[in-house]
Amino acid sequence: MHAAADTPARPYVGRYAPSPTGHLHLGNLRTAVIAWARARAAGGRFLVRIEDIDRQRSRPEYEARQLADLAAIGLDWDDEPVRQSDRHPLYDDAIRRLPTYPCYCSRKDIQRELAEIGGAPHGAPGAYPGTCRDLTDDQRADKAAALAADGRGPSLRLRSDVREWTARDALHGTIAGDVDDMVLRRADGMWAYNLAVVVDDADQGVTEIVRGDDLLSSAPRQAHLAHLLGVPEPMYAHVPLVVSAEGRRLAKRDGDVTLRDITAEQAKRWIIESLRAGAGVAGAGGAEALREDAAGVGADAAGAGAGGAGADVFAEVDDIADLPEVFDLMAIPRERVVFR
Ligand SMILES: [Zn+2]
Repeated sequence: MHAAADTPARPYVGRYAPSPTGHLHLGNLRTAVIAWARARAAGGRFLVRIEDIDRQRSRPEYEARQLADLAAIGLDWDDEPVRQSDRHPLYDDAIRRLPTYPCYCSRKDIQRELAEIGGAPHGAPGAYPGTCRDLTDDQRADKAAALAADGRGPSLRLRSDVREWTARDALHGTIAGDVDDMVLRRADGMWAYNLAVVVDDADQGVTEIVRGDDLLSSAPRQAHLAHLLGVPEPMYAHVPLVVSAEGRRLAKRDGDVTLRDITAEQAKRWIIESLRAGAGVAGAGGAEALREDAAGVGADAAGAGAGGAGADVFAEVDDIADLPEVFDLMAIPRERVVFR
Protein backbone atom coordinates (compact mmCIF):
# COMPACT_ATOMS: atom_id res chain seq x y z
CA MET A 1 0.00 0.00 0.00
CA HIS A 2 0.94 3.60 -0.33
CA ALA A 3 3.32 5.03 2.20
CA ALA A 4 3.23 8.82 2.20
CA ALA A 5 6.97 9.09 2.62
CA ASP A 6 8.09 12.60 3.40
CA THR A 7 9.90 13.99 0.43
CA PRO A 8 12.62 16.57 1.03
CA ALA A 9 11.10 20.04 1.24
CA ARG A 10 10.91 21.71 -2.15
CA PRO A 11 10.39 25.44 -2.61
CA TYR A 12 6.66 26.19 -2.71
CA VAL A 13 5.14 26.40 -6.18
CA GLY A 14 1.40 26.96 -6.48
CA ARG A 15 -0.82 27.40 -9.47
CA TYR A 16 -4.23 28.26 -10.79
CA ALA A 17 -5.30 26.37 -13.89
CA PRO A 18 -8.55 27.57 -15.48
CA SER A 19 -10.19 26.04 -18.54
CA PRO A 20 -10.97 28.74 -21.10
CA THR A 21 -14.52 27.51 -21.65
CA GLY A 22 -16.34 30.52 -20.23
CA HIS A 23 -15.88 33.53 -18.01
CA LEU A 24 -14.46 33.03 -14.51
CA HIS A 25 -17.25 33.38 -11.98
CA LEU A 26 -16.89 34.64 -8.46
CA GLY A 27 -16.21 31.12 -7.13
CA ASN A 28 -13.36 30.61 -9.62
CA LEU A 29 -11.90 33.99 -8.73
CA ARG A 30 -12.11 33.22 -5.01
CA THR A 31 -10.27 29.91 -5.49
CA ALA A 32 -7.62 31.71 -7.56
CA VAL A 33 -7.16 34.29 -4.80
CA ILE A 34 -6.72 31.57 -2.19
CA ALA A 35 -4.17 29.72 -4.35
CA TRP A 36 -2.29 32.94 -4.99
CA ALA A 37 -2.35 34.09 -1.35
CA ARG A 38 -1.17 30.68 -0.20
CA ALA A 39 1.79 30.77 -2.59
CA ARG A 40 2.74 34.36 -1.80
CA ALA A 41 2.33 33.81 1.95
CA ALA A 42 4.76 30.91 1.63
CA GLY A 43 7.21 33.12 -0.25
CA GLY A 44 6.68 30.82 -3.20
CA ARG A 45 6.06 31.01 -6.89
CA PHE A 46 2.59 31.16 -8.43
CA LEU A 47 1.86 29.91 -11.93
CA VAL A 48 -1.16 30.18 -14.20
CA ARG A 49 -1.80 27.36 -16.64
CA ILE A 50 -4.43 27.31 -19.36
CA GLU A 51 -6.15 23.93 -19.35
CA ASP A 52 -7.36 23.87 -22.92
CA ILE A 53 -7.05 20.19 -23.84
CA ASP A 54 -10.75 20.29 -24.64
CA ARG A 55 -10.34 21.90 -28.04
CA GLN A 56 -14.07 21.81 -28.75
CA ARG A 57 -15.02 24.02 -25.84
CA SER A 58 -11.89 26.15 -25.35
CA ARG A 59 -11.83 29.64 -26.84
CA PRO A 60 -8.89 32.07 -27.08
CA GLU A 61 -11.18 34.98 -26.22
CA TYR A 62 -12.07 33.34 -22.92
CA GLU A 63 -8.41 32.74 -22.18
CA ALA A 64 -7.59 36.41 -22.71
CA ARG A 65 -10.57 37.50 -20.63
CA GLN A 66 -9.73 35.10 -17.78
CA LEU A 67 -6.14 36.37 -17.56
CA ALA A 68 -7.39 39.96 -17.63
CA ASP A 69 -9.91 39.19 -14.87
CA LEU A 70 -7.26 37.58 -12.66
CA ALA A 71 -5.06 40.65 -13.11
CA ALA A 72 -8.04 42.96 -12.47
CA ILE A 73 -8.61 41.52 -9.00
CA GLY A 74 -4.95 42.02 -8.17
CA LEU A 75 -3.28 38.66 -8.84
CA ASP A 76 0.12 38.37 -10.44
CA TRP A 77 1.96 35.28 -11.60
CA ASP A 78 5.45 34.13 -12.42
CA ASP A 79 6.41 33.11 -15.96
CA GLU A 80 4.17 33.22 -19.00
CA PRO A 81 1.10 31.00 -18.66
CA VAL A 82 1.53 27.66 -20.45
CA ARG A 83 -1.21 26.03 -22.49
CA GLN A 84 -1.99 22.33 -22.43
CA SER A 85 -2.61 22.47 -26.17
CA ASP A 86 1.13 23.22 -26.60
CA ARG A 87 2.23 20.26 -24.50
CA HIS A 88 1.17 17.12 -26.36
CA PRO A 89 4.73 15.69 -26.49
CA LEU A 90 4.85 15.69 -22.69
CA TYR A 91 1.61 13.71 -22.40
CA ASP A 92 2.75 11.37 -25.14
CA ASP A 93 5.98 10.71 -23.31
CA ALA A 94 4.15 10.09 -20.02
CA ILE A 95 1.75 7.62 -21.53
CA ARG A 96 4.67 5.58 -22.86
CA ARG A 97 6.01 5.29 -19.32
CA LEU A 98 2.74 3.93 -17.92
CA PRO A 99 1.33 0.42 -18.14
CA THR A 100 -1.64 0.68 -20.51
CA TYR A 101 -3.92 -1.36 -22.74
CA PRO A 102 -6.32 -0.41 -25.50
CA CYS A 103 -10.02 -0.43 -24.66
CA TYR A 104 -12.63 -0.93 -27.35
CA CYS A 105 -15.69 -0.38 -25.16
CA SER A 106 -18.22 2.33 -25.77
CA ARG A 107 -19.88 3.95 -22.79
CA LYS A 108 -22.91 1.79 -23.54
CA ASP A 109 -20.82 -1.40 -23.59
CA ILE A 110 -19.47 -0.56 -20.15
CA GLN A 111 -22.92 0.18 -18.73
CA ARG A 112 -24.25 -3.09 -20.13
CA GLU A 113 -21.38 -5.08 -18.71
CA LEU A 114 -21.69 -3.44 -15.30
CA ALA A 115 -25.43 -4.16 -15.26
CA GLU A 116 -24.80 -7.81 -16.14
CA ILE A 117 -22.21 -8.44 -13.48
CA GLY A 118 -23.87 -6.19 -10.91
CA GLY A 119 -20.98 -3.78 -10.57
CA ALA A 120 -17.24 -4.03 -11.05
CA PRO A 121 -15.79 -7.21 -9.56
CA HIS A 122 -13.16 -5.26 -7.65
CA GLY A 123 -13.69 -1.66 -6.84
CA ALA A 124 -16.18 1.12 -6.74
CA PRO A 125 -19.60 1.17 -8.35
CA GLY A 126 -19.16 2.35 -11.92
CA ALA A 127 -15.47 1.48 -12.03
CA TYR A 128 -14.38 0.08 -15.37
CA PRO A 129 -14.99 -3.69 -15.18
CA GLY A 130 -11.78 -4.60 -17.00
CA THR A 131 -13.46 -5.98 -20.09
CA CYS A 132 -10.51 -5.33 -22.40
CA ARG A 133 -7.72 -5.85 -19.88
CA ASP A 134 -6.88 -9.46 -20.71
CA LEU A 135 -7.93 -9.87 -24.31
CA THR A 136 -5.82 -12.09 -26.56
CA ASP A 137 -4.01 -10.57 -29.52
CA ASP A 138 -6.62 -12.09 -31.84
CA GLN A 139 -9.47 -10.60 -29.85
CA ARG A 140 -7.79 -7.18 -29.89
CA ALA A 141 -7.31 -7.38 -33.65
CA ASP A 142 -10.99 -8.28 -34.17
CA LYS A 143 -12.24 -5.49 -31.93
CA ALA A 144 -9.87 -2.95 -33.49
CA ALA A 145 -11.07 -3.91 -36.95
CA ALA A 146 -14.71 -3.60 -35.90
CA LEU A 147 -14.12 -0.11 -34.49
CA ALA A 148 -12.08 0.96 -37.52
CA ALA A 149 -14.94 -0.10 -39.78
CA ASP A 150 -17.00 2.45 -37.87
CA GLY A 151 -14.29 5.07 -38.26
CA ARG A 152 -13.44 4.85 -34.59
CA GLY A 153 -10.40 3.85 -32.55
CA PRO A 154 -9.73 2.49 -29.07
CA SER A 155 -9.12 4.50 -25.95
CA LEU A 156 -6.06 3.80 -23.82
CA ARG A 157 -6.52 2.74 -20.21
CA LEU A 158 -4.18 2.45 -17.27
CA ARG A 159 -3.43 -1.14 -16.30
CA SER A 160 -3.74 -0.44 -12.61
CA ASP A 161 -2.39 -2.84 -10.02
CA VAL A 162 -4.04 -1.11 -7.07
CA ARG A 163 -7.69 -0.54 -6.17
CA GLU A 164 -7.22 2.38 -3.86
CA TRP A 165 -4.80 5.22 -3.21
CA THR A 166 -4.43 7.98 -0.65
CA ALA A 167 -3.73 11.62 -1.39
CA ARG A 168 -2.62 14.17 1.17
CA ASP A 169 -4.65 17.33 1.60
CA ALA A 170 -3.79 20.34 3.76
CA LEU A 171 -7.44 20.88 4.65
CA HIS A 172 -8.88 17.38 4.56
CA GLY A 173 -5.98 15.33 5.90
CA THR A 174 -5.82 12.16 3.87
CA ILE A 175 -8.21 11.44 1.02
CA ALA A 176 -8.56 7.74 0.29
CA GLY A 177 -10.24 6.87 -2.96
CA ASP A 178 -10.72 4.20 -5.57
CA VAL A 179 -8.38 3.75 -8.48
CA ASP A 180 -9.57 1.86 -11.52
CA ASP A 181 -8.26 1.28 -15.02
CA MET A 182 -8.90 4.94 -15.87
CA VAL A 183 -8.85 6.28 -19.40
CA LEU A 184 -5.60 8.12 -20.17
CA ARG A 185 -6.27 8.89 -23.82
CA ARG A 186 -9.77 9.02 -25.13
CA ALA A 187 -11.01 7.24 -28.21
CA ASP A 188 -11.05 10.58 -30.06
CA GLY A 189 -7.35 11.02 -29.28
CA MET A 190 -7.89 13.67 -26.59
CA TRP A 191 -5.77 13.31 -23.46
CA ALA A 192 -7.68 12.56 -20.31
CA TYR A 193 -7.72 15.40 -17.81
CA ASN A 194 -6.29 13.11 -15.09
CA LEU A 195 -3.19 12.47 -17.15
CA ALA A 196 -2.61 16.02 -18.38
CA VAL A 197 -3.03 17.64 -14.98
CA VAL A 198 -0.57 15.26 -13.31
CA VAL A 199 2.03 15.63 -16.05
CA ASP A 200 1.73 19.42 -16.03
CA ASP A 201 1.95 19.84 -12.28
CA ALA A 202 5.02 17.59 -12.18
CA ASP A 203 6.65 19.32 -15.11
CA GLN A 204 6.08 22.74 -13.56
CA GLY A 205 7.32 21.65 -10.14
CA VAL A 206 4.00 22.42 -8.44
CA THR A 207 4.26 21.43 -4.78
CA GLU A 208 0.70 22.15 -3.68
CA ILE A 209 -2.51 22.16 -5.68
CA VAL A 210 -5.15 24.53 -4.34
CA ARG A 211 -8.43 24.00 -6.18
CA GLY A 212 -12.17 23.63 -5.72
CA ASP A 213 -13.47 20.65 -3.80
CA ASP A 214 -15.45 19.44 -6.81
CA LEU A 215 -12.16 17.73 -7.73
CA LEU A 216 -11.62 16.13 -4.32
CA SER A 217 -12.56 12.65 -5.48
CA SER A 218 -10.06 12.81 -8.38
CA ALA A 219 -7.11 13.44 -6.09
CA PRO A 220 -6.33 9.80 -5.18
CA ARG A 221 -6.30 8.79 -8.87
CA GLN A 222 -4.07 11.70 -9.78
CA ALA A 223 -1.72 11.09 -6.86
CA HIS A 224 -1.46 7.48 -7.98
CA LEU A 225 -0.56 8.52 -11.53
CA ALA A 226 2.16 10.79 -10.11
CA HIS A 227 3.47 7.84 -8.14
CA LEU A 228 3.51 5.62 -11.24
CA LEU A 229 5.31 8.32 -13.20
CA GLY A 230 7.95 8.52 -10.49
CA VAL A 231 7.31 12.19 -9.73
CA PRO A 232 6.61 13.67 -6.28
CA GLU A 233 2.98 13.37 -5.25
CA PRO A 234 1.79 16.93 -4.66
CA MET A 235 0.04 18.16 -1.58
CA TYR A 236 -3.55 19.16 -2.24
CA ALA A 237 -5.79 21.78 -0.66
CA HIS A 238 -9.38 21.40 -1.82
CA VAL A 239 -11.27 24.53 -0.87
CA PRO A 240 -15.04 24.80 -0.61
CA LEU A 241 -16.99 25.82 -3.65
CA VAL A 242 -19.12 28.90 -3.77
CA VAL A 243 -22.79 28.07 -4.19
CA SER A 244 -25.77 30.20 -5.09
CA ALA A 245 -28.42 31.11 -2.54
CA GLU A 246 -30.35 28.08 -3.84
CA GLY A 247 -27.43 25.80 -2.99
CA ARG A 248 -26.39 25.24 -6.60
CA ARG A 249 -22.68 25.47 -7.33
CA LEU A 250 -21.72 28.34 -9.57
CA ALA A 251 -20.98 27.31 -13.13
CA LYS A 252 -19.25 29.05 -16.00
CA ARG A 253 -22.04 28.25 -18.39
CA ASP A 254 -25.05 29.29 -16.38
CA GLY A 255 -24.47 33.01 -16.40
CA ASP A 256 -23.27 33.07 -12.80
CA VAL A 257 -21.80 36.29 -11.55
CA THR A 258 -18.60 37.32 -13.32
CA LEU A 259 -16.69 40.53 -13.88
CA ARG A 260 -19.18 41.23 -16.63
CA ASP A 261 -21.83 41.72 -13.94
CA ILE A 262 -19.95 43.33 -11.07
CA THR A 263 -16.82 45.45 -10.88
CA ALA A 264 -13.42 44.08 -9.91
CA GLU A 265 -13.68 46.20 -6.74
CA GLN A 266 -16.96 44.55 -5.78
CA ALA A 267 -15.53 41.11 -6.48
CA LYS A 268 -12.44 41.80 -4.37
CA ARG A 269 -14.58 43.13 -1.54
CA TRP A 270 -16.81 40.04 -1.59
CA ILE A 271 -13.86 37.63 -1.70
CA ILE A 272 -12.14 39.34 1.22
CA GLU A 273 -15.37 39.30 3.22
CA SER A 274 -15.90 35.62 2.46
CA LEU A 275 -12.41 34.83 3.77
CA ARG A 276 -12.85 37.11 6.76
CA ALA A 277 -16.07 35.33 7.66
CA GLY A 278 -14.10 32.09 7.78
CA ALA A 279 -11.39 33.64 9.89
CA GLY A 280 -13.70 33.83 12.85
CA VAL A 281 -15.96 36.82 12.43
CA ALA A 282 -19.45 35.86 13.54
CA GLY A 283 -22.55 36.63 11.59
CA ALA A 284 -23.35 36.49 7.94
CA GLY A 285 -24.47 40.06 7.45
CA GLY A 286 -23.50 42.34 4.62
CA ALA A 287 -20.03 43.60 3.97
CA GLU A 288 -20.43 46.67 6.16
CA ALA A 289 -21.65 44.68 9.17
CA LEU A 290 -18.73 42.30 8.84
CA ARG A 291 -16.26 45.12 8.64
CA GLU A 292 -17.65 46.70 11.81
CA ASP A 293 -17.49 43.38 13.62
CA ALA A 294 -13.89 42.93 12.66
CA ALA A 295 -12.93 46.44 13.66
CA GLY A 296 -14.85 46.16 16.93
CA VAL A 297 -12.81 43.19 18.09
CA GLY A 298 -9.81 45.44 18.35
CA ALA A 299 -6.27 44.79 17.27
CA ASP A 300 -4.77 43.99 20.67
CA ALA A 301 -5.61 40.27 20.46
CA ALA A 302 -3.98 39.83 17.07
CA GLY A 303 -1.82 36.76 16.96
CA ALA A 304 -3.62 35.11 19.89
CA GLY A 305 -3.80 32.04 17.74
CA ALA A 306 -7.35 30.83 18.35
CA GLY A 307 -10.96 31.79 17.89
CA GLY A 308 -11.31 35.28 16.55
CA ALA A 309 -7.62 36.01 16.14
CA GLY A 310 -7.93 35.64 12.40
CA ALA A 311 -10.62 38.29 12.42
CA ASP A 312 -8.31 40.72 14.14
CA VAL A 313 -5.58 40.47 11.60
CA PHE A 314 -8.18 40.58 8.89
CA ALA A 315 -9.30 43.97 10.16
CA GLU A 316 -6.20 45.33 8.45
CA VAL A 317 -6.99 43.76 5.11
CA ASP A 318 -8.44 46.22 2.62
CA ASP A 319 -7.18 44.75 -0.56
CA ILE A 320 -6.21 41.42 -2.09
CA ALA A 321 -2.60 42.63 -2.02
CA ASP A 322 -2.73 42.66 1.81
CA LEU A 323 -3.87 39.04 2.03
CA PRO A 324 -0.55 37.13 1.92
CA GLU A 325 0.61 38.91 5.06
CA VAL A 326 -2.26 37.52 7.14
CA PHE A 327 -3.19 34.49 5.11
CA ASP A 328 -3.89 31.27 6.95
CA LEU A 329 -5.19 28.45 4.79
CA MET A 330 -6.45 26.63 7.87
CA ALA A 331 -8.77 29.52 8.66
CA ILE A 332 -10.72 29.39 5.44
CA PRO A 333 -14.24 28.05 5.89
CA ARG A 334 -14.70 24.33 5.38
CA GLU A 335 -18.34 24.69 4.40
CA ARG A 336 -19.60 25.80 1.07
CA VAL A 337 -19.71 29.55 0.77
CA VAL A 338 -22.99 31.11 -0.28
CA PHE A 339 -22.99 33.98 -2.69
CA ARG A 340 -25.97 36.30 -2.20
ZN1 LIG B 1 -12.90 -1.93 -22.88
